[in-house]
Amino acid sequence: MADKQNYDVIFIGGGLASGIAAILLREHMPQLSLLIVEAREKPEIPQTWSFQSLPEYLDPSLTKAFSSISESWLNNLISCSWTGYEVRFPELRKQLQIPYHSLRSSDFWNYMRREFKDSLILNETVAEVQGQQIRLESGRYLQAKQLIDARGWAKDAFPVAGYQKFVGLNLTLKKPHHLSCPILMDATVRQEDGFRFMYTLPWDAQSLLIEDTHYSDHAKIDLAYYRSEIIQYAETQGWEIESIGEMEQGALALPSFSKSGFTAKRLGPTTTAIGVRAGLFHATTGYSLYDAVLGAEQLVESARRSLASIDSTLSGYCRRRWADQEFYRRLNNMLFLASEPSERYRVLERFYEHSDDLISRFYAGKTTRADKIRIISGKPSIPMKRAIYHFFNRSEVQHG
Ligand SMILES: Cc1cc2nc3c(=O)[nH]c(=O)nc-3n(C[C@H](O)[C@H](O)[C@H](O)COP(=O)(O)OP(=O)(O)OC[C@H]3O[C@@H](n4cnc5c(N)ncnc54)[C@H](O)[C@@H]3O)c2cc1C
Repeated sequence: MADKQNYDVIFIGGGLASGIAAILLREHMPQLSLLIVEAREKPEIPQTWSFQSLPEYLDPSLTKAFSSISESWLNNLISCSWTGYEVRFPELRKQLQIPYHSLRSSDFWNYMRREFKDSLILNETVAEVQGQQIRLESGRYLQAKQLIDARGWAKDAFPVAGYQKFVGLNLTLKKPHHLSCPILMDATVRQEDGFRFMYTLPWDAQSLLIEDTHYSDHAKIDLAYYRSEIIQYAETQGWEIESIGEMEQGALALPSFSKSGFTAKRLGPTTTAIGVRAGLFHATTGYSLYDAVLGAEQLVESARRSLASIDSTLSGYCRRRWADQEFYRRLNNMLFLASEPSERYRVLERFYEHSDDLISRFYAGKTTRADKIRIISGKPSIPMKRAIYHFFNRSEVQHG
């Protein structure tokens, strides 16, 4: 553990966003002294962060991390890659030729511990910020020229349209599963508690992660029920379970298109935020890996100019990014408010009829004007009048 008191940059919270930001800052500005302060003793709670490759023309990252992956710094963090993935709906079964990649938190933290050993403090909660100084719960004080708040999801930061919630089980099978690529959505399962699908990642010939996922109106999760549903799903696929490993879970709040926007919940007046704390995530999927990289690159660019410019650069970037996502918040209103929960799967079924390029642009948050028209027009998958109403009108419904 570091025993220094003064740093150039201190990250409050050691998660995906601060980890990536620290990696890029150190690579591009090795002269800076960095510190990550993380509240958990063992930060590697089971979590899998996945993303899709992007064609070069669409890759918004300055380091081309999503298009030239094998040559990129991001490659060091990837636990598993596949050349494509599959989606299954009652009336659509499709193989997409979009490479897919996953980072497992255990691998991520092995890397972080190895590379940042002197710049990591674990098992210490930041209790308070006073100017450029932080007070740890243990009573210790540390200072930095720039504090960065990366504490993860903030409660009540935005009005919620609904939740993407899931429980995942890592399974070892008695025999090979014969899957060559992930099944990103198997929505042929019984629809309940919103749009429901099983998400399967084949880690190797005999091990899988299966997540039971719901686009639901509330965040409640009955762990025992989800667990039994996953086991039953594996059995119906003919996958005989040898042992059950780690369990993952999450309930990602998805913002609605409403009068109120994003309220920054900072730890102190001088802290700049990154990651989901700063609203840097995809409004419809709740995923933040692309945004973690883009936010980190913004941080490096402004740090290169001066540490003092980080706050205004990042705050402006986060505001623009939130504003840019209005279309996805409108889609959330349509998905959660215009369609009956049991019919929500039809919206996604129709979405996946589109081209691989449109789908890539959607996940990257780079949907074009033509894409938007394609996504919301055509054969209606939900009642047209209600869909139009909720797409165009701000909602004050707050799900929870
Ligand atoms: C199970 C799960 C799976 C997900 N899968 C994907 C995926 O496949 N792809 C994707 O793009 N997104 C995914 N997401 C969504 C999102 O990318 C993650 O939530 C991501 O971890 C957010 O990164 P972050 O760094 O902003 O916050 P976090 O990773 O949550 O990190 C915040 C950290 O701050 C620490 N902290 C909080 N308060 C303090 C304090 N006062 N002092 C010190 N430390 C503090 C916390 O302990 C935590 O470790 C997933 C989310 C979950 C929950």
